Amino acid sequence: MVLSIYDTFSRTPSEITSHSGMVTMYCCGPTVYRDAHVGNLRTFLLSDLIARTIKLSGLSVEMIQNITDVGHMSDDFQEDKMLEQSKREKIDPFEIARKYEERFHQDLANLNIIPAQKYPRASESIQLMHKMISALIDKGAAYVGDDRCVYFDAQSFAGYGQISGNRLDALKPGHRYEYVEDGAKKFHADWALWKAAGNRKEMIWDSPWGPGFPGWHIECSAMSLEFLHGHVNVHVGGIDLRFPHHENERAQSNSITGVESVDLWVHGEHLLFEGRKMSKSAGNVVLLDDVIAKGFDPLALRLCFLENRYRSQMDLSWQSISAAHETIKRWRNKVATWGDASAITTDSTILTFLENDLDTPRVITYLRSIEKDSNISNAQKLNAFNFADQVLGLDLTRAPEERELSAELKELLHQRDAARTAKNWERSDELRSILESAGLEISDSSSGQSWSWR
Ligand code: AMP
Ligand code: ZN
Repeated sequence: MVLSIYDTFSRTPSEITSHSGMVTMYCCGPTVYRDAHVGNLRTFLLSDLIARTIKLSGLSVEMIQNITDVGHMSDDFQEDKMLEQSKREKIDPFEIARKYEERFHQDLANLNIIPAQKYPRASESIQLMHKMISALIDKGAAYVGDDRCVYFDAQSFAGYGQISGNRLDALKPGHRYEYVEDGAKKFHADWALWKAAGNRKEMIWDSPWGPGFPGWHIECSAMSLEFLHGHVNVHVGGIDLRFPHHENERAQSNSITGVESVDLWVHGEHLLFEGRKMSKSAGNVVLLDDVIAKGFDPLALRLCFLENRYRSQMDLSWQSISAAHETIKRWRNKVATWGDASAITTDSTILTFLENDLDTPRVITYLRSIEKDSNISNAQKLNAFNFADQVLGLDLTRAPEERELSAELKELLHQRDAARTAKNWERSDELRSILESAGLEISDSSSGQSWSWR
């Protein structure tokens, strides 16, 4: 068997195959003008789960994830997100890019995501984009407008709209769809491949059409085809990228290759936090660093994601992260007592769940039932958990933690003890909440306070 996963384009689960035994994967990467939030991380984890499952099925994977550090415009299409943030932070836009790119890699490492082979940056792939834009012009799929921008001619691509179901004739002018570039476009649904610099002074490059900067969609076509040898077996991104980003990418790439350039388009559903879409204005944007600062294992977030199918919208809460943290702690303790791991053998039940459109929630339920089953030997339990962990990536063989208390926490515990002796309950409660948010669990009894790591 091999992994069968839902393909947005054909609207059916499709098998991931590769004649060479090597599966090429492309995952749309972060726009590095800010920290990735836990929603973005859910999508980045999806490509890790796919890659790990493919490997478990016996194939190899070559994965590329781009870094968008130019060309991704703000929601009103007025300004590049990088330049907007550069003004806000009063730092050079490339410095902003490198800062958030580094934090992105740190987040991936904390989530135990196996790195891609390469993380090409858009700003360092400008020549590739020029080459592709020139080829599109030569093929009659793109044209230079009076405003010296280069546009893709949407009507030149007959299959436009097949991923998202947005047909060209239904895309009426006025639909929220990059109309700000209206200027020299011949048709309302055409989009810019290269934008003339105009008043823009930073993040611009010379080009055969004059100074300017690339559009966001062309970068993914250029980088995916260049670094994955002209063909992508599996393309991954969040559901919001289905249209227009992936629709436009498909039109560009297919116009270049003359064939279907991507075998499978996989989209992960969005993450909500405590019932609401995460947004700055709602003040509910959560980062992995926030999870860590509360004393939770970052892999607790990974387990929360695994407990939900990637294709379902999911709601995350502090409560579910806390519960997942407890589960991982318990599992690590049990794995440590179940004995020493010998060679892992295939657990076909788990493999079947995974290969069936990444049914990680069923894997978790299965592990929970095995854990409690007294008819299953410890060696069998250990094998099932270790086998699953090759994809779950929860680091279950890690020795249960023996963390040292910092001097600061020792002092706070001491102060709380003193507050209780002085019957200063208000101060004692205040200190309890500080200690708890640092990851400690405090209990009081007649013999005094005791603590443990949460
Ligand atoms: P961005 O950095 O905004 O370009 O987004 C990076 C990735 O995160 C893209 O694949 C988006 O589709 C995805 N994404 C954005 N918001 C969410 C969310 N709330 N839940 C899951 N994925 C998301
Ligand atoms: Zn992309």
